[in-house]
Amino acid sequence: MIAMITIAAWLAGMQQTPFPIVQTPSAALVAGGVSAATEDPLTRPIGGSRAAEWLAPVPPERIFGNSYLVGFAGLSVALIDTGDGLVLVDGALPQSAAAVLANVRALGFDPKDIKFILSTEPHWDHAGGLAALARDTGATVVASKRGVEGLRTGKHASDDPQLAYGGSWPAVTTPIRIMKDSEVLPLGTARITARATPGHTMGSMSWSWQACEGKTCKEIVFAASLNPVSADDYRFSSAAGAPFVAGFARSYRTMDRLKCDMLITAHPDNAGDGRFSAKTAACRAYAERSRQALAKRLAAEEADATK
Ligand SMILES: [Zn+2]
Repeated sequence: MIAMITIAAWLAGMQQTPFPIVQTPSAALVAGGVSAATEDPLTRPIGGSRAAEWLAPVPPERIFGNSYLVGFAGLSVALIDTGDGLVLVDGALPQSAAAVLANVRALGFDPKDIKFILSTEPHWDHAGGLAALARDTGATVVASKRGVEGLRTGKHASDDPQLAYGGSWPAVTTPIRIMKDSEVLPLGTARITARATPGHTMGSMSWSWQACEGKTCKEIVFAASLNPVSADDYRFSSAAGAPFVAGFARSYRTMDRLKCDMLITAHPDNAGDGRFSAKTAACRAYAERSRQALAKRLAAEEADATK
């Protein structure tokens, strides 16, 4: 058995080694001071110690213009103030929903004004909190067609490279709007564009929008994970993996050509140091790291097959 997961350590923080999700219904308080009502199935803690590490609190902050970060040290959640309602990007974990909304309030906004919650991928660490956030705000969740499958079931899609890890997270039962690649969500002064970035999951979607301060405007990209990681026995080089490899290639082309003045990644450390990257060509560098990790991964699979 080759060390499939460690191959994907294309950044120290990219390890993201998943594990079977452990339900810990007795935990009323997880690290980071995020409290959860244990009787509420939508906020019951999942993810054990890894989740607690990801949920280490950081203060909410404005990054540019109408755009803010309201997530955690190891999981990004963005907030866009469109002037006619708020938009969240990603939902972190079930147990962190209250902390996300507290961060929104701390910035002076009312969570009831959240109209949409955009999802990057149907995995527990980014979508686990969507059900509670949608219920508590009345917002509509937005995802790709393939992304919706996982959000509706609270489980990996049947072709997900991480399927064998098992586990589940709260399914979204409230309305979900499906958006296609390049489709624009207009709200207030914002125009948020869906950017299909398949590979990590086939439903992965990144989101981009422009934020302005006076006459200065910046293109912000909230990128879905491009980590070529899987459960142990999965092979990206198999017939089942072929659409994923093709998906990654498509995603690299998309990332390479996107206007990208500021990059937010679903796990902040995947963008480099800090909570986001404002470096030149940050999206290209992000794609390049994944490209190299996938090449390494495929080479390891080939070496393993010829043993
Ligand atoms: Zn994932």
